[in-house]
Amino acid sequence: MNVIEKKIKPEGAAQNISSIPDALKHSKILMVDDEPITTEILQTFLEDAGYQNFVSTSDSTKAVELIRNTQPDVVLLDLVMPEVNGFDILAVLRSEEGFLHIPVVVLTSSTDATTKLKALELGANDFLSKPVDPSELALRIKNTLAAKAFQDRLTNYDALTGLPNRRYFSDSLQQLIQVAKMSRQQFLILHLNIDSFKKINETLGASAGDALLQKVAVRIEEVLKTPELTVQLGHQQYQLSLFRTGGDEFTMLVPDIRKNTDAGFIATKLMCAFNQAFYIADQELFVSPSIGIGVYPDDGENVEILLQHSNVALSHAKNQGGNLYQYYSKNLNAASLEKLQMGNQLRTALENNQLVMHYQPKVDLQSGEIIGMEALMRWEHPELGMVSPIQFIPIAEESNLIITLSEWAILEAARNIKQWNENFGAELTVAVNITSKHLKSNLLVDTVKNILQKVEIPPRFLELEITENVILDNADSNIQSLKDIRSLGIKIALDDFGTGYSSLSYLIQFPLDILKIDRSFVINLHTSQASRAIVSAIIAMAQGLGLFVVVEGIETEEQLQFFQQRHCDFYQGYLFSRPVPANEFTKLLEAGNYRKAGEKNRSLPV
Ligand code: C2E
Ligand code: MG
Ligand code: MG
Repeated sequence: MNVIEKKIKPEGAAQNISSIPDALKHSKILMVDDEPITTEILQTFLEDAGYQNFVSTSDSTKAVELIRNTQPDVVLLDLVMPEVNGFDILAVLRSEEGFLHIPVVVLTSSTDATTKLKALELGANDFLSKPVDPSELALRIKNTLAAKAFQDRLTNYDALTGLPNRRYFSDSLQQLIQVAKMSRQQFLILHLNIDSFKKINETLGASAGDALLQKVAVRIEEVLKTPELTVQLGHQQYQLSLFRTGGDEFTMLVPDIRKNTDAGFIATKLMCAFNQAFYIADQELFVSPSIGIGVYPDDGENVEILLQHSNVALSHAKNQGGNLYQYYSKNLNAASLEKLQMGNQLRTALENNQLVMHYQPKVDLQSGEIIGMEALMRWEHPELGMVSPIQFIPIAEESNLIITLSEWAILEAARNIKQWNENFGAELTVAVNITSKHLKSNLLVDTVKNILQKVEIPPRFLELEITENVILDNADSNIQSLKDIRSLGIKIALDDFGTGYSSLSYLIQFPLDILKIDRSFVINLHTSQASRAIVSAIIAMAQGLGLFVVVEGIETEEQLQFFQQRHCDFYQGYLFSRPVPANEFTKLLEAGNYRKAGEKNRSLPV
């Protein structure tokens, strides 16, 4: 074992080399050498060069543990040591994910090229020959640390805003929990998300979106630095930390809060900061934030739970329409967990054959013949029993699952209508409900085309039902998709008419064939003069626009007569039949009262 002797140190040599940046002075340097004198000398050289933070051991069997516990910025490692040598340690460091980012400089007395090569092959970043030259040592350590600092910046910081990123956030949260646990402190976690950020990206372009994120980051930082806030929190010495934790999500950690009102105070300050416009590409842009707040330890004592709960608070703020802040509460959690659970189960419901289509007859108001049906989805849940689409369709709509379910529904409906029309010599149409999200996906036209080809049915057998929010939601692009679908020969029905807020002028622009009057008007017909007036006006308008009128939810003879007298075209309702499984629908057709193929029907569109 070579000993580096102090006497070889040339006076002041280390000071002569280019000075090290302040940022590197506090880097933690860990030295492993079985000769304590060697680490002493190395430390002296490095101290002369300006470094201040050292850890060392002469017991190589403890080296890995020491590295794990102290997380150094660089390891200076002797190669030749008894029991566990430098190669063994290097091999461990390069085989574990947690050590890969720590650079290792090996010390070797050997001039033997193969030894150096072996160390480099094992993953050493650099080597130094003993006896060590102080200038060379300082330089190599400086370069190694600078490379690591650059790498750390890439892994821990977000390039767009310069803020620490999600990874850094996770580490900080972990550390903060440890500190808070020991000192019995409370701290806050605030997630801030920009409302409708996606729309900004879509309409103004990604570079405008990026510019907005940069300005939002600066504005939040300004809020966090205001003296008013630090005074309120009563601990000026604390740096409130801000992270960019997602595309348009920023997260703040506020350590050691004293009062429960602190969270609301900070959140309000943040909300106010968005009252002023952002100027992006010469445009004045107003955006609002949603903020979710979690409190340690009340809302979770470990990283996972605390994050889960603070995110629940954020989603709740968003679901209420945004532009507000929301604390986590246990009730909130129960509701969102149930939803989350249902969402997860729904994902496998299709594979597990738990989804079925039911069909409700659509009947000619004058002749009483079945002219078609509406396909309605059902979920036969193994524990909950039959789950209503009113419950699960909105959950599916929160993810792209709705598209998978919808495609399956169209395929099922197409297969069934083919069977019925062929087996009964019938001319029936099947209507499938479509959500706005599916229409917007631009996948629907191709899906429908493929299904028509695959199942081999003429397009006139198929109808799609859309609701008024399709009209409100991105009208222009939806109009185009609907026109494309209609040009295939498929009819479009506007469902639940009268319950949304669509402007009547849109009715003219939208490519529609059928208008379905919502059940809510039908229920009140015989008690409310207003309902009768509205319904009469809707019918007159639809007829004026050349649309077929389908009435939903007829339950009584009186209701039926009302619409017969007003010459509406078709109806659905419990009076005739509830939605039924396909085999029961077949039984309804066996009675023979349906529209036959080739039959000239008054209502059959030309
Ligand atoms: P919707 O399209 O307006 O369907 C009509 C709803 O009214 C159905 O409820 C039907 O069972 C019910 N109904 C029909 N006649 C009567 C009646 O006389 N009295 C009463 N009280 N109710 C009647 P359902 O099947 O629970 O569906 C509810 C909604 O779920 C549908 O409203 C539709 O918006 C959605 N939905 C159902 N299946 C699907 C699907 O496959 N895809 C999509 N995207 N949405 C679906
Ligand atoms: Mg419908
Ligand atoms: Mg409806």
